[in-house]
Amino acid sequence: MTAAIRRPSPGLLLRHPADRACVARAVLALPILAIPATIGLPGGWWWPPAAFAVWFALADMNFLLHQHVHRAWTRAPAVNRALELALSAVTAMSAANWRIGHLRRHHRGDDSWGGGFAWEMRRATRWGAFSYAARGVPIVLLRPLIFAFVRGFRSGGPDAAWHRGAFVEQAGVLAFAAGLIATAPEFYLPCYFLVLFFTRLTDYENHVACDPAAPLGFANNTLDPLYNRVRQNFGHHTAHHLYPGAHWTRLPELHAGLAASIPPERIGHARWTGFKTPPLAARLLSAALTRGRPRRAGCA
Ligand SMILES: [Zn+2]
Repeated sequence: MTAAIRRPSPGLLLRHPADRACVARAVLALPILAIPATIGLPGGWWWPPAAFAVWFALADMNFLLHQHVHRAWTRAPAVNRALELALSAVTAMSAANWRIGHLRRHHRGDDSWGGGFAWEMRRATRWGAFSYAARGVPIVLLRPLIFAFVRGFRSGGPDAAWHRGAFVEQAGVLAFAAGLIATAPEFYLPCYFLVLFFTRLTDYENHVACDPAAPLGFANNTLDPLYNRVRQNFGHHTAHHLYPGAHWTRLPELHAGLAASIPPERIGHARWTGFKTPPLAARLLSAALTRGRPRRAGCA
């Protein structure tokens, strides 16, 4: 199937009015990230809650960047570039990284970079989720960087120039993150790590225990309403894979058209690993609201 064609919205800058909040959060991300390195965090007992608050404000920025690389928010290429560079600086995972590892591999069914071990992926477990997410952090940063270097500087070919640019972009973002870490390692090191850890955890939740060979059996879906409100309908993951260019507001209707063909065990009502996918407060509230509803079979 191909991506659904959507009629452009009448906005002058935004391609879709529902993306206003995404753009606002992306604009604020870099100033928030700079707080510990510039004005600093309070000391003593106030440090842990202050550090958590800053991280919490940034926890979903890699998810926003994922949305943006699939479907740019604005009509202005320069604005799009500025927004994705800001989000790249916050996450250490540049837009070029997303395009190489996610758009060109994961969405084409190639998970050979950082793919799960059989024991991790057989069924959803907390240990499997932790192992997959933790060991995936360096892999998700380095494999696209190495790939871009080889394709850009060694292999040649018609896309060599693009990969050289992608390598420079990724290396620059990593250098920026390393510089920030040097200023306040006690905050920035766990901050970057946890942003990427939860990115990988989301990937685990979306594909654990799946059977890529089964018709529409390659992704897990959650219909949890609060999760989908907070994560922009990302729980409709089969629809996201089949229509990667579709705006997130259309995913529920696209899912509804597919639901009868998706294996029932690939549809659940809550996130199934039990980890606290950010935003934490929303996840906890969601768990409380969905208590008593049927959960996906085989949940850990
Ligand atoms: Zn995607």
